[in-house]
Amino acid sequence: MASPILPLLPSNLEVIQDPNQVAKLSKDYYHFSPVLTAQLQDKVADVVIRPATEAEVLQVAKACVASKTPLTVRGAGTGNYGQCIPLEGGIILDLSKLNRTKWVKPGLACVEAGAKLAAIDKITREQGWEIRMAPSTYRTATIGGFIGGGSGGIGSITYGQLADRGNLTAVRVVTMEDEPQILELRGDDVQKVNHAYGTNGIITELEIPLGPAYPWAEVIVTFDDFMQAARFGYTLGEADGIIKKLISIHAWPVPSYFAALQEFLPPNQTAALLMIAESSLEPFGELVKAYGGTVTYQKTAEAAKKGAALAEFTWNHTTLHARNVDTNLTYLQTLFPYDTDLKLVEHMYRHFGDEVLMHLEFFRVHGQVCPAALQLVRYTTEARLNEIIRYHETQGAFIANPHTYILEDGGRKEINDTQVAFKGQVDPYGLLNPGKMRGWLERNT
Ligand code: FAD
Repeated sequence: MASPILPLLPSNLEVIQDPNQVAKLSKDYYHFSPVLTAQLQDKVADVVIRPATEAEVLQVAKACVASKTPLTVRGAGTGNYGQCIPLEGGIILDLSKLNRTKWVKPGLACVEAGAKLAAIDKITREQGWEIRMAPSTYRTATIGGFIGGGSGGIGSITYGQLADRGNLTAVRVVTMEDEPQILELRGDDVQKVNHAYGTNGIITELEIPLGPAYPWAEVIVTFDDFMQAARFGYTLGEADGIIKKLISIHAWPVPSYFAALQEFLPPNQTAALLMIAESSLEPFGELVKAYGGTVTYQKTAEAAKKGAALAEFTWNHTTLHARNVDTNLTYLQTLFPYDTDLKLVEHMYRHFGDEVLMHLEFFRVHGQVCPAALQLVRYTTEARLNEIIRYHETQGAFIANPHTYILEDGGRKEINDTQVAFKGQVDPYGLLNPGKMRGWLERNT
């Protein structure tokens, strides 16, 4: 079906109408969830538009408002919750051509929203800086998509999460008013669009803080016992003198899913996948000894440039590798409370046994080292999945439910009045990624 906005667009814009390509660009990694697969598999946009400049984004926004056409922004489409799947058709605005790094200063960079994280890092590293945190989709994901739909990742053990004050400096946003405009948000105002699934503004440009770019060694340490490995991970997280970027702990049989690493992963052992600054390897080695771990793999930063990156087995890449072996596996996203004894982690590990396989990622929450978990779940029914989620919640773990496409239900479970109010201001017709923001739906139905 021809989209009503096509006649309103200038002829120089890249427009994709081929049904196969449109279908492909209408999807993300929602299929990690059997629940979302059933809900979203038939959703598709009418057309994909790929602007190359902010001025072109403004033209598309104006045409969408004039024709009341829904617009869903897409970065690289690596989100896991159907965030960039258009529930009501309309257009996909693919920002992959807005990909310049405009400037880099000590500790800060200005980038266009469609720039890939790895591409940004390549440029900033020439000056000794790097992105503070990145998802394990670092090579493909865009910075706009990471801010729009991500939460944290490799680097979060030092810098916390994207939502933490200081981890996003400024954004430029194109609005969907009758006369679309460009707004610059700075300071706490960036939170109006941070992790809003593109429901309340099209981010075109960002200023992002950077961290010092260390040469990161990649290391695997194995342990006989899962809880010993978990305690090692926690202690490493707290060891402020040891500079690290990744602490990822995988109870057996999770390591058995990492095909490319099998020679370093002995059967029945828990594996810790780690990124450690080369300059910290000596004190790190002492910690490994103290916890009775065995280093089975160690690569310098230079050597790590070749072959599979260790980070690409961690965070949600763990789920990807596991599902390559067994498509019945799905996952949870859990934040365990701050507890130096990791009691709740141990309880869940023993309680669910082989039904929920432990995968921990340590990160910093308001300065404290906490385990997040992206456990693998042997899926049977939606009812059982919800039972597992409820059990975690009643025991005091926080679940960021990855089996819903509703912004608030996946995250804090609360309506963010500031984000809803901002949507009212900049998207009065509710055209941006419709159906995802519960606060807006409740206010307007
Ligand atoms: P997309 O999927 O294209 O978009 C994500 C959301 O942001 C959508 O709602 C979209 O509409 C919106 N959006 C995109 N661009 C803009 C923009 N310019 N303005 C406004 N809104 C916009 N996430 C993590 O946080 N940490 C991880 O470690 C992690 N690991 C992952 C591993 C795998 C294997 C997979 C499949 C996913 C993982 N994710 C992770 C989720 C996802 O990769 C990240 O959120 C990623 O940053 C998304 O980037 P993207 O460019 O693909 O965004």
